[in-house]
Amino acid sequence: MDKIKRMKELITIINKYNYYYYVLDNPVIADREYDAIYDELVALEKETGVVFPDSPTKQVGDMVLEGFKKYTHIKKLYSLDKCNSFAELESWVNNVTEQYGEQVYSLEYKFDGLRISIIYENGQLVTAATRGNGYIGEDVTQQVLTIKSIPYNIPYKSKLVVEGEAMIKLSDLAEYNRTATEPLKNARNAAAGAIRNLDPRVTGSRNLSMFFYGIPYIEGYEFSTHLEIMQFLKDNGFPVYDYQKTVSKIEDIEREIDNIDKTKKNLDILIDGAVLKINDLKVRDKMGFTAKYPKWAVAYKFEAQELTTTLNNVVWQVGRTGKLTPIGEVDPIELAGATVKRATLNNYGDIVRKGVKLNSKVFVRRSNEVIPEILKVASVDNTCVDIVKPTVCPSCGTQLIEDGANLFCPNYYGCPDQIDQRIDHFASRNAMNIEGISEKTIEMLRTTLNLHTVADLYTLSYDDFKQLDKFKDKKSSNLVNSINNSKKPKFSNFIYALGILGVGEKTAKDIAKKFNNLNQLMNASLQDLLTINDIGEIIANNIVNFFKDEKQIQLINKLLDLGIDIQYSNNVQKSHPVFTGKTIVLTGDLNNYTRTQLTNILEEFGAKVTSSVSKNTDLVIVGENAGSKYNKAKELNIPIMLEPELLDNLK
Ligand SMILES: [Zn+2]
Repeated sequence: MDKIKRMKELITIINKYNYYYYVLDNPVIADREYDAIYDELVALEKETGVVFPDSPTKQVGDMVLEGFKKYTHIKKLYSLDKCNSFAELESWVNNVTEQYGEQVYSLEYKFDGLRISIIYENGQLVTAATRGNGYIGEDVTQQVLTIKSIPYNIPYKSKLVVEGEAMIKLSDLAEYNRTATEPLKNARNAAAGAIRNLDPRVTGSRNLSMFFYGIPYIEGYEFSTHLEIMQFLKDNGFPVYDYQKTVSKIEDIEREIDNIDKTKKNLDILIDGAVLKINDLKVRDKMGFTAKYPKWAVAYKFEAQELTTTLNNVVWQVGRTGKLTPIGEVDPIELAGATVKRATLNNYGDIVRKGVKLNSKVFVRRSNEVIPEILKVASVDNTCVDIVKPTVCPSCGTQLIEDGANLFCPNYYGCPDQIDQRIDHFASRNAMNIEGISEKTIEMLRTTLNLHTVADLYTLSYDDFKQLDKFKDKKSSNLVNSINNSKKPKFSNFIYALGILGVGEKTAKDIAKKFNNLNQLMNASLQDLLTINDIGEIIANNIVNFFKDEKQIQLINKLLDLGIDIQYSNNVQKSHPVFTGKTIVLTGDLNNYTRTQLTNILEEFGAKVTSSVSKNTDLVIVGENAGSKYNKAKELNIPIMLEPELLDNLK
């Protein structure tokens, strides 16, 4: 009877985790770990044939929060069956084919947000609710009304329930964080927290989006396919995400899912998988539901990017601005295809806010192209100890100063780590692009040759390098060459190389577009800078102050004296007979370009690429599986260009 005992144990554990996850919005283990014990319980139930009344496998999931009015759904909202491997997916599809013949499926993103259903009566939004436990959810009408893209009035007049996912776009999250006193790290939690906030003004401030994908209930209308439902949603003004593929063969399904997995990092939203739905509603009716899931749909989940591990130590790194960053050393874990041993804790304030301690179990997240981060504490016990706040710079010993959540070493011009980091940034690929100069080389240059500023790089000779440890003829002459080759930077790269606080690559490009030359930029006023779209007061101030600093001016002059020749030619746009000066919208998937690539190319030709079709749009470039934007373009009679014609034009 060990199995029964284990099942009871699992039920207790899972129910506890559910409470943390759904009610407190504060998960204590990672999804993947949760899934593992959940799956273990499912397997045991299957094996023993016993399902206890309080088993979480009988519930859909959520519980209802106190404080919100409860809402009873007109039709039960089911969750989705899931699979984690192509083998499982294949067996699911094979099973369907055996019983119901080969099917047409709709493949869509699995959004990582908060599922919401909305009820319309007489063409008007009357109630919005969370899924809750599938039968009863929370009434979040006031919160949902703050989502601007959701229509309040729709053409369809009979009673209707639509469902979709409330999310925060990553760009909106970044925008929110630019001015937020407490930045939000995780887009899913930011959206869920916004919807479940009793104050709708907080919801409104997060600028949520919502995408719709289903109609659980409708009066006076019958659909025969899922694609009809999607079209109906679009026709009634509901935002539908611009990705949907119609697939049938397992090879096509798997190829598409691979594609999604590879390209998901370019999206402005979080997705954690793909959903495969049978298109034919007659077949769906025949298949029906289990207690939890519809049998006619399945979610393919991508590998989780979040896991728990133990924090063993914290080291403090000094950055090029003097800011100290705590780096946590953790028990190594495999996360999204890489071994993670170190993860950032951002700043001292973050450690305090998250309550992170040495020896505590912590959540580590790894997102694309970002260093792993310690998200929060999973658990602490009495073996945990506080992380000590340093008082002096670990690099130069100077007394630290505290500014908000951050600790700074004020020894800007003398702190070895700051000097190294500034030179490293200056030499980096998207700055001056000095090839073959590593952090280690920079440290040697400083200690052996007393290199102190970025300008000193351009005074170094072949003989200087030869003095360095392990620098032979070839390596020395290579480095001399790459330093020489870096002397003609693009204006935007030079601006980025200067390392002005808050000026990243994108901002540097925006600045380079706005000003004709360095001199103009150095004399720019706060007002001039604020006319650039993405520059706010803080960054504008940083820029003005940077160019007021005598030492920075001297350094720039020294660089120019040493032969740095900034190339302004990139300001002169290449012109193109079709694209220059046009406002262009891209929709659907192209075979030859990603959206970002094509946007860059078109922008180089002086076109403006926007996200929504309006009467001001000059051209819509349409790839495969284009959705509502394509229809809108046809409606407004806007010229449409397909991929073959695009390729001709870009030859
Ligand atoms: Zn220092």
